[in-house]
Amino acid sequence: MQKIFIVEDEDHIRKMVSYALAMAGFEAQGFMDGEAFWQGLEAHWPALILLDIMLPGEDGLSILKRLRQSEKYAKIPVILLTAKGTEYDRINGLDLGADDYITKPFSVMEAISRIKAVLRRSGQEPRQTSEIQIAGLRLHKDKRTVYAGDREITLTYKEFELLQYLMVNEDIVLSRDKLLEQIWGFDYNGESRTVDMHIKSLRQKLGDSGSIIKTVRNIGYKASGGSEVKS
Ligand code: CA
Repeated sequence: MQKIFIVEDEDHIRKMVSYALAMAGFEAQGFMDGEAFWQGLEAHWPALILLDIMLPGEDGLSILKRLRQSEKYAKIPVILLTAKGTEYDRINGLDLGADDYITKPFSVMEAISRIKAVLRRSGQEPRQTSEIQIAGLRLHKDKRTVYAGDREITLTYKEFELLQYLMVNEDIVLSRDKLLEQIWGFDYNGESRTVDMHIKSLRQKLGDSGSIIKTVRNIGYKASGGSEVKS
């Protein structure tokens, strides 16, 4: 879920926007002032910052300026909240690198659509689907389902993790050690045979679709829709 920061000292606006963001599928985090915001920024990485200009303590334009001058945070999209009749702030804000501004009073629907537009422009919109497909095999990361054609395949937890990792890394050869480390963790004391056994059972369960899992001799495995590896 994408996290949106809202820096706004007016409680009702911060709460209203937070609520609307949650309804729209975002994770909202509100801050009363710059100080709380900078602390929050050390703990979490927002996809976008909604930043009020008029704040107690450090004002929004100063926060924006510091963000844009910082190496670490310079690319985080910022939408300014500006008051009516403050054209100077607005222009100043855009000059300082704000991605957009919203003039108060605004409707939450408008705010949400502006946020989505800025996220789209900055290329941070989440992918529409969390489904990966190779040949006729479809794996859905969030629903944790696997279909071979129309047939749903029931996998164990580790089998699913293994298949997902192979499919995400389509056409990349993954060594047994790499797979052990990724799926079973650094501390796993098992042998690389564990991987082979899980691959074997995966292939059996997947039937014809199991052919997307290729054995790469002396190394490991890869998922590929192409023809069999010759080695
Ligand atoms: Ca304010």
